[in-house]
Amino acid sequence: MSVIGIDLGTTLSCVAVLKNERIEIVPNNEGDRLTPSYVSFSGDEVLTGKAAKYDMDFNHRNIIYQIKRLIGKKYNDPILQGDLKLWGFEVINKNNCPIIQVDCNHDLKLFHPEQISSTILLELKHDAETYMGSTITDAVITVPAYFNSAQRKSTKEAGKIAGLNVLQILNEPTAAAIAYKLHHTHKHKACNVLIFDLGGGTFDVSVITIRGEVFDIKATGGDAHLGGEDFDNRMVQYCIQEFYRQTEVDLSKNKRALSRLKMKCEDAKKKLSVSVIAKINVDSIHSGIDFKATISRAKFEDINNDYFAKTLHGVQNTLNQAKMTKDKIDEIVLIGGSTRIPKIQEMLKRFFNGKQLNNSINPDEAVAYGAAVYATDLIKQKFSERKHLMESKIFDERLEQQREARQTFEYYISDIKQYFTCVGTHKLSSYETQLIFGRCDNESNWIEEHKMSNIGELEKRQLHLEEFVRHVIYIIRKKDKTLSTRWFN
Ligand code: AMP
Repeated sequence: MSVIGIDLGTTLSCVAVLKNERIEIVPNNEGDRLTPSYVSFSGDEVLTGKAAKYDMDFNHRNIIYQIKRLIGKKYNDPILQGDLKLWGFEVINKNNCPIIQVDCNHDLKLFHPEQISSTILLELKHDAETYMGSTITDAVITVPAYFNSAQRKSTKEAGKIAGLNVLQILNEPTAAAIAYKLHHTHKHKACNVLIFDLGGGTFDVSVITIRGEVFDIKATGGDAHLGGEDFDNRMVQYCIQEFYRQTEVDLSKNKRALSRLKMKCEDAKKKLSVSVIAKINVDSIHSGIDFKATISRAKFEDINNDYFAKTLHGVQNTLNQAKMTKDKIDEIVLIGGSTRIPKIQEMLKRFFNGKQLNNSINPDEAVAYGAAVYATDLIKQKFSERKHLMESKIFDERLEQQREARQTFEYYISDIKQYFTCVGTHKLSSYETQLIFGRCDNESNWIEEHKMSNIGELEKRQLHLEEFVRHVIYIIRKKDKTLSTRWFN
C-alpha cells in the first residue's frame, strides 16, 4: 500500500512516495517535479498548477494563489489584511472567515480556503496515483513550524476534502531534518539543527533540538514576506532603469511589459546561480522596441544586498530566541529554491565560521522527501502496532486517540511559544518571558518523558497550562491594554 508525503507550499507544492524501496519525487502531468500552488476558474473549468498560473494574463481575478497565507485565519487577522491588498482575487468577509469569491460565467461562487487547498492536494494525489498505478489515500502533509492549531486543523480538513486520510501534519523543518537523516546521524546525543528555508515568498528559520526520534522546535523566526520574488522585483526595477537609460521610455506603468520582464528576470536570476553573467532579452517590450540587457552576478548581489543581509538578522534573532549561540549549532540545513543563490550560501557559511552546510538534497524537494520518509515509517509502525495489538487484544483506536491528544498538546505549546514570541520582549519583562517559556519547556519535556501517558493525564496538563496562560495574559493586559489576545479568544 502506497503512502505519500506532501509539501503544500505557498508558491509551489511537491509530492513524494516510496517506490521500489526508494523515496521518489512524483512528476506531475507536465513532467515537472514541482507544481505551482495555483487554482483558476474559467467558466465551468477548474485548472490547477502550471495551467492555472499561465491563465494569469487573461483571467487574473479568478486565479487563486498563496492560499497558504489564508488558511485557518480569521478575516480580521492584521497580517491577512495586509496580504489582501496584494492579491488580484476577491476575498470577502463571512462571519469573520475569509471566503474566496470567483466569477464563473457571471455566476459568483464562494469557496473556503480549505476547498481551494484541497483542489491542489487532489491534483497531487492524482499525480501520485498515476505514478504508482494504484489508489492512494494515506498522506502526511507538512506545514510551517509556526502554524497554529487552527491553521493545522484547516490543512488537515483540506486533505480530508481531497479524499486523503491525513496520518499526520508534520512541521516543515522537521521533515527537512528527516530527509537528511539527522535523527540517525546523531542517535546518541542531542543535536541542534538550524533550518534555513528561503523560498519564493517566505523566509523561515527554525532551531530544532533532536534527541533520538524527538524533534523539539526551540524557536522559529524569519520574514513572512521575503524570498525569491523580491529578488526578481529588484531585477525588474534595474531593467526599467536600463530601458529608460536606453530609450527614455518609462515601463513602470506597462503591466504586460512588467509581467514579461519578471519572468525573464527570474530566469536570469537562476542562471546567475551557476554563471557570473546572464542576458535578459524581451522582444518588442514597448511599441515594437526590444529590450536587451546583461546583468552580472556582482550587480545582482549588489541590488539585493539588503535583502540578503536581512536573512542573517533572521538567523541571529532566531538563535537569540532559542537562547543559543551559533557555535552550539551542529547542523545547518538549507531548503527553499532561493538557497541556491551562491551569495546566500557564502554569507551563511561565513556567519557560522565556515561550517559545512547540508544542501545535497534538492532544496525544493527536501520537505516532501522527508514527509514521505515519515509517512512510510508511520504506516510501518501502524502495521506492527496493529499486529501487536491484535495479539494482545487492545484497541488500536486508543493508541490513535492518545497520539492525537499528545499532538494537540504539543501544538498548543507551540502556539503559545509563537504567540509570546510575536508579542516580543518589549511587552514582556525578562521574568515573564522566563516564566512562560520555562513552563512550556517543562511541559514539552514532560510529554517527551511520558510517551505512554493516558489521554486524561494529557488533557489535564493541557487545561492547567491553558489556565496558567490565561492568567499571565490577564496580568500583562493589566499593564498593557494593547496586547492582542486573538489566538486565545
Ligand atoms: P520554493 O518556494 O522553495 O520552491 O522556491 C522558489 C523560489 O526559488 C523562486 O523564487 C525561484 O525563483 C527560486 N529559485 C529556484 N531555483 C533557483 C536558482 N537556481 N537560483 C536562484 N533562485 C532559484
